[in-house]
Parts: sequence; structure tokens; C-alpha cells
Amino acid sequence: MLVLSGGTGTPKLLQGLKEVADFWVVVNTAEDVWVSGNKICPDIDSVIYALAEVIDDEKWWGIKGDTFYTHQRLKTLGFDEGMMIGDLDRATHILRSEVLRAGKSLCDATKTVANAYGVRHEIFPMCEEEISTIVVTDEGEMHFQEFWVVRKGEPEVKDVYFKGIERAKIPEEVKKRLEKENEVLIGPSNPITSIMPILSIEDFRERLRDKRAIAISPIIGKAPVSGPAGKLMRAKGYEVSPKGVADVYADFLDLLVVDEADEGVIEKSVATNTIMKSKEDAIRLGEFVVRLFDRL
Ligand code: GDP
Repeated sequence: MLVLSGGTGTPKLLQGLKEVADFWVVVNTAEDVWVSGNKICPDIDSVIYALAEVIDDEKWWGIKGDTFYTHQRLKTLGFDEGMMIGDLDRATHILRSEVLRAGKSLCDATKTVANAYGVRHEIFPMCEEEISTIVVTDEGEMHFQEFWVVRKGEPEVKDVYFKGIERAKIPEEVKKRLEKENEVLIGPSNPITSIMPILSIEDFRERLRDKRAIAISPIIGKAPVSGPAGKLMRAKGYEVSPKGVADVYADFLDLLVVDEADEGVIEKSVATNTIMKSKEDAIRLGEFVVRLFDRL
């Protein structure tokens, strides 16, 4: 099974799915940034930390129990790096960046980091090229990290685009694996900022059409479980509802898993409890999805 992932909802699911199914992951990299000399891949880090069971499962980013001494000391020395980066988390970024500085690819660097954390699943960045998610707001254009981390998602959103996406290529290893793959799962991730970038690379979308594809809705009722997905979907012209999610994936999706609160609201959907508050919740949802693939 191929899983497409962002950095919160899907990593939550992967913590449980790893107990009940085999899978490989293609991860969004359109939120990546260089901070204090190192490359941060927020979504890849969350996938690796979730699979290694070291993720801070209260915030859903960074490492459980991490400290922020270096971040604070930099501030005292007069340099605000903008993003809160934990001391242990920074070690991951240094390792990744040293592999890149040695001339290797992001695919290689991701393998190195995953191996270092004892993660046996194959995890791929969506592409090697540097892509930036730009949010067009009433206050001008800003990088997604500025919109979400610095401005707390407050500005009014008019549009979202992925700078550099036209020249991005699907990594060769991903292409090869995709050819042999028949099952695609889109976890409960932000359809606009996490999944759309992946689908926008070359003909990735078209490559999913002949496969069995299931998505889990990150929207329950008329609102996301967390994060800015609602605002961004609206700006892109989609309804903020499970129907809106199904519309984003309409050309290749076979089935949408909606929350039991939304049972029967759209065709080609099945309902279950999709809220994951614990690893047990994630295992249960993972088992549900595995059974659905068997029936498709
Ligand atoms: P990001 O990269 O941090 O934006 O993370 P993702 O795109 O992977 O995940 C964000 C989405 O996950 C949000 O739209 C949330 O609504 C959704 N989400 C988070 N936790 C849950 C959950 O327990 N259940 C469901 N159904 N969705 C969730």
C-alpha cells in the first residue's frame, strides 16, 4: 500500500497502520525550509518520528521530551531563528543537511534519517526540487510557515500556490514502485497544502487513476479536526466538508472514509470513528482501511 502523507493527521494514522499493514510513504515537501543552516522537512520528520514512536504526541511535531536550549541561546545571542527547533530535533536536521552537503539526494538523506531512527518503512520525499507553498493573503504573499507559524493562520486567504512545482520531477524510485502498486491511501491530511503538492508533480495524479484509492477525510462536519485546512480549501473554491475533500480527489478516488458524524452525506463513502486520540484509535482505523481495500 502507498500512503500519501502530510505532517499531522496521516502520521497519527501511520502509528497504528504499521501494526496491521505493510506500506510505503510519499511525503509532502512543499513546507520545507532552511533554518539556521539546516534543511527542515517538517512532514518527513513527523512521519519518521511517528513511525519511530518518538513524536511529541501532544503537539504532533518535534520529539517527545525535547529541550530548546540552543534555540533559546541563539535568541539571547541576538538571533531569532523564527521556528521553535528542539535540541534533539535539530540533530535530525543536521544529519539530513550533512548528507545533502555531501552531494547526496533528499531521497538518500531521508533513508539515512529513517535508518538512524530504526524505521524500516520506505519513505520518499515527493521530489528532489525545492518547492515552497505560498499563501496569497489580503496582506500580500507569504510562505506557508510564515502564514501558519508566525501569523497563526490569521490573514485572510485568497489563494495558495506551489512555487517551483512546474519543474519538479517524481523521483525515479517512486515511479518504479508506483508501477507495481495497486493500493493508494490518502491519510487524513490537509488536501490543499499536504496532498495537492504531491498530486501536482508531473503526471502523479494520472498515475493514480488505475489504482484502488481510498482517502480519509480530515474534515468532520464543516470543519477540520485541526489546522488551517478549512480556510485553504475555501480559498481554492472547495466546500469545507467531506464532499469538498472528495471533490479534490474526484478523478481517481474510489472511496472516502468519513467520520460517523457524517454517515451517508455523500455517495461512495463509508463511515467510522475517524478521531485518533491514541495509538489504539489509529490501529482501529488502520484495520478498518485494510478491510476496505480487501473489499474494493
Ligand atoms: P500538516 O502537514 O501538519 O498540515 O498535517 P497533515 O496535512 O498531515 O494533517 C492535517 C490535517 O489532519 C488537518 O486537516 C486535520 O483536520 C487532520 N487531522 C488531524 N488529526 C485528525 C484525526 O484524529 N482524525 C481525522 N479524521 N483528521 C485529523
